[in-house]
Amino acid sequence: MSSILLVDDRPENLLALEASLEPLGRRLVSATSGEEALRHLLKEEFAVILLDVQMPGLDGFEVARMIKHREATRHVPILFLTAISKDRTHVFRGYETGAVDYIFKPIDADILRSKVSVFLELHEQRQELGRQEELLRQAQVAELEARSEERYRSLADAMPQIVWTAGPDGVADYVNEGWVAFSGLTLAETAHDGWLITLHPDDLQRTTELWEAALRSGTLFETEYRMRRADGTYRWHLARSLPQRSPDGEVIGWVGTCTDIHDRKRAEDAQVLILEASAVLGTSLDYRRTLAQVAQLAVPRMGDWCAVHVLDDDGSLREIAVVHSNPSKLKFVLELQERYPPDPDAPIGVASVVRTGRSELIPEIADELLVANARDELHLDLIRELALRSWLCVPLTARGRTLGAITFVAAESGRRFDEADLRLAEDLARRAATAIDNAQLYRQAEERAQAARVLASVGDGVFMVDGEDVVRLWNPAAEAITGLGVQSVLGRSAAEAVPGWKQLRPHIPVADAPGPAAPRPETLPLEVSEREIWLSIAGVAIDDGVVYAFRDLTEERKLERMKTDFVATVSHELRTPLAAIYGSAMTVRRRDIELEEDVRLRLLDVIADESNRLAEIVNDLLLASHLDSGELQVSIEQCDPRELAESVLDAARTHLPEAIELSLRAPARLPWVAADHGQLRQVLVNLVENAVKYSPDGGRVELELEPQGAMLRFAVHDPGLGVPENERTRIFEKFYRLDPNMTRGIGGTGLGLYICRELVRRVNGKIWVEPHDGAGSTFVVEIPLADAHPRKRGRRRRKPAARASR
Ligand code: ADP
Repeated sequence: MSSILLVDDRPENLLALEASLEPLGRRLVSATSGEEALRHLLKEEFAVILLDVQMPGLDGFEVARMIKHREATRHVPILFLTAISKDRTHVFRGYETGAVDYIFKPIDADILRSKVSVFLELHEQRQELGRQEELLRQAQVAELEARSEERYRSLADAMPQIVWTAGPDGVADYVNEGWVAFSGLTLAETAHDGWLITLHPDDLQRTTELWEAALRSGTLFETEYRMRRADGTYRWHLARSLPQRSPDGEVIGWVGTCTDIHDRKRAEDAQVLILEASAVLGTSLDYRRTLAQVAQLAVPRMGDWCAVHVLDDDGSLREIAVVHSNPSKLKFVLELQERYPPDPDAPIGVASVVRTGRSELIPEIADELLVANARDELHLDLIRELALRSWLCVPLTARGRTLGAITFVAAESGRRFDEADLRLAEDLARRAATAIDNAQLYRQAEERAQAARVLASVGDGVFMVDGEDVVRLWNPAAEAITGLGVQSVLGRSAAEAVPGWKQLRPHIPVADAPGPAAPRPETLPLEVSEREIWLSIAGVAIDDGVVYAFRDLTEERKLERMKTDFVATVSHELRTPLAAIYGSAMTVRRRDIELEEDVRLRLLDVIADESNRLAEIVNDLLLASHLDSGELQVSIEQCDPRELAESVLDAARTHLPEAIELSLRAPARLPWVAADHGQLRQVLVNLVENAVKYSPDGGRVELELEPQGAMLRFAVHDPGLGVPENERTRIFEKFYRLDPNMTRGIGGTGLGLYICRELVRRVNGKIWVEPHDGAGSTFVVEIPLADAHPRKRGRRRRKPAARASR
């Protein structure tokens, strides 16, 4: 109802006004001062104000000005009531301050009522208009809201995400199409925790706790969990739910979304799995152990069970790991695999994957497939027991070779393998295969390194040529025996690198395989670096070439030849004195002829001399054998060289051929030498005897003594046959003779110089031969001086013998 404000300082006037306006049936509010009027105006809205002009305190004009000044009251019509001020300026001032009319006292009640009615009507019409406007606005807002709600819903339905809203208690009151399509649940089935049945059992507890905490605290709920799709497969989602609040902060509902992050999650999981598997594969070269660990990692991430098979050297498939997420099922798996190992001819399965090197993916194993592939009733029962759902098998392939296969099986989880799983499995298998390959390569490299070490340490020469006859291996012994360095041989054709190989090659026996059936090695000569070496050599053919092994028989050959020479010379050497002894003895024994006494004595001399000669030969043989076995004792003492030389020459003179002249050349004073007296004497005897023996045309044989630094030099010069330069070291070898066939008629065993060399060596002396006067030889022996030799205390000094006459 509209109100009218009546302002007059006189209560009787107010009464009159109230009485006049009563019939209008509106609320009348009276005020006796300007201040009171203003107070009422602050509190309520008035349709019209009747304002007395003359009032004590604030007069009407001032009150009017203040009303017009205030925004909320400036349009309220003011009717001035006045008794006196009828003059124009006064009236004008009233209109100026915002009055709409003047009513002069005494007031005519009718006029007053009709004037006020006009303003009342105006006010009420305006009010009505406002009300209608408000209604209209509300209607429009409602329509707008409805429209936007509709828009939001279709937006929510069109979104790929799952969208829902719930009341403050969390009970869903709206779910979008996305949810219905994903879960197959209606709003009614979803509300009141119905959605929880779609959660993966492993995520259920964690999720419910988080959701309840969010409901209690009215804070953001955000987490990741797996939800079961209508087809039974689980997919990872990111769930977010925000509380909606009223202006005063109260939670009035929830808006939630679930975004499918399955592919991202799977890519992340795959990456983690690949990383972990790579780390495991890199830890050890024992690939059987690392592959078992990889199988552990793959379950349950890649499937409910995982098995790894590898090809053995004999071509059979061997399972090296099997892991099941459900331990109670593992025994069925093991039983299945033990009873029904991979069938090599099956069209699908591990064996076929290994055979073809191609992956196999069966997203959904139909029962018909099980029946078709079951080998018997028990097999089928076992497979059914294991609830096979989906199957994936990828080959372990490295450098084009299939080394085995990894199998992933989905069962209880209800998982279905797809192309993404296949790619992940293949990636994993590639890494695993590389690890196996590396381990095998490492093992081979180790074996090769070991073989190389063995080859490097064997005493036999070993080398290998390839199909093109190019040398691919040449061991240190081959290098040592032939003197051909590995650098000069390796990578070159054998014919080019090994001199004489072309001629040798056709004579070398080559077996197809090593073993008792292989032919015996041949002993063949090879001419390298101007020397002849004898090789006992044989070959064995390998895949791409031939491996030859040889042994240096040069020494054995030499020994062999020496033995033959020895037998020839010694038998000759023995036969000559024996023949002389036999002949002489037979003659002395004859009864039929009377021998003259001097003939008989000469014959007996021959027997004695030749027996002596035989004894000398046997002594030489014994001495040589003692030297070889190291049994000969050496006792070093101080010896007088002159005494030695003279005694040797004296002995030689007793049976000197007439054409030979013997002499000694030595300074007056000579230092003594440190040697074994008897042995040094024997050396000098040998050299002087040889000098005489090998000077068949006679001449002068001279023994020369001369100090030479810390040594004393004994030189035996002869005018004889001489020794060719290339034989000067060889004549010191055992049994070596320059003329074994004795074309010059000079006999010998070839032991003398060998004995000399060995005896001289034992007292740290030296012996060699050099030419003498162009034709003959000088045999030189150097023996350390006694002073240079550490003298032992208490050593016996040998007395110088009496000087022999020349
Ligand atoms: P033997 O004299 O019993 O044959 P040796 O060992 O004493 O054996 O000598 C070995 C060979 O050296 C002899 O066969 C001979 O050919 C050669 N030889 C040794 N001494 C001389 C020499 N003074 N002049 C020439 N040749 C010598």
